[in-house]
Amino acid sequence: MNRASGERGYCRAGALARVFRFGPHGGEEPPISGTGGSGTVFFAHCTMSCVFCQNYRFSQQDRGKEVSADELSEVFLSLQTAGCHNLNLVTPTHFLPQILEGLKMAFSGGFGLPIVYNTSSYENMDTIESLEGVVDIYLADARYADERLAREYSGAADYVVRSREALKAMWDHSGQLELDGEGIARKGLIIRHLVLPGHLKDTRRVLEWIAKGISTDVAVSLMGQYRPMHRAYGHRTLGRRLSLKEYDEALRFARSLDFETLFVQRPDSDFPADLLGEKMGSSW
Ligand code: SF4
Repeated sequence: MNRASGERGYCRAGALARVFRFGPHGGEEPPISGTGGSGTVFFAHCTMSCVFCQNYRFSQQDRGKEVSADELSEVFLSLQTAGCHNLNLVTPTHFLPQILEGLKMAFSGGFGLPIVYNTSSYENMDTIESLEGVVDIYLADARYADERLAREYSGAADYVVRSREALKAMWDHSGQLELDGEGIARKGLIIRHLVLPGHLKDTRRVLEWIAKGISTDVAVSLMGQYRPMHRAYGHRTLGRRLSLKEYDEALRFARSLDFETLFVQRPDSDFPADLLGEKMGSSW
């Protein structure tokens, strides 16, 4: 697929990076958001197509503005000037060459924030290898253990194999979460799992795999923010919010595995990423 000559693939991204919104974000895990916010850049398009995507307006409906590498570097530098703790690249994979070019320019302009790679983990190994020495922190999903769910809900039948391979490589590159004296992340891997309503069995399998396939030393974020959005409205299983009972059961199981670090986000707590994104000041 030659995007530079106008061809478009599954994700529909073009030759230039497309940014939906950027700004300080207070809704990530505490060591990522800190007090100054995480300098988040939401990229449009996505390599998956989740029926419940809360960011569907830009991940699947492609909203946003195309930007040059120069403009991207200005965005990165503006987040540093705004006092953000890090640069948080959300769904960046399909724009990696453009991002690396923008980063190169930003570095020569004095950019020095830790870089967070915020990914579904549906990655090629070549991509992850190319990030070694560039990315400091991986904020990476482990969505499914059942391939049928990955195919039905996200259109990615090989998600389980691909994501597990990618997560292992991220763990090898970045290791355990390291914080500075203020409790802000400097380096490491946080694996996120979004608990889906009616799918606790899959949640247990995902968590078990993380403990055995990666390590109980890895930081795990158990996300209870699920609510039906996009094509999940009216869905027989996904058409409702996660109950507190379901979340607490998932949490009990996660605790029984003895992870070194476990971030807890109950369904009634307030950090839905895209809603906070809506409140960000800087948008296109
Ligand atoms: S939920 Fe994440 S991985 Fe799935 S379509 Fe949306 S942005 Fe992409």
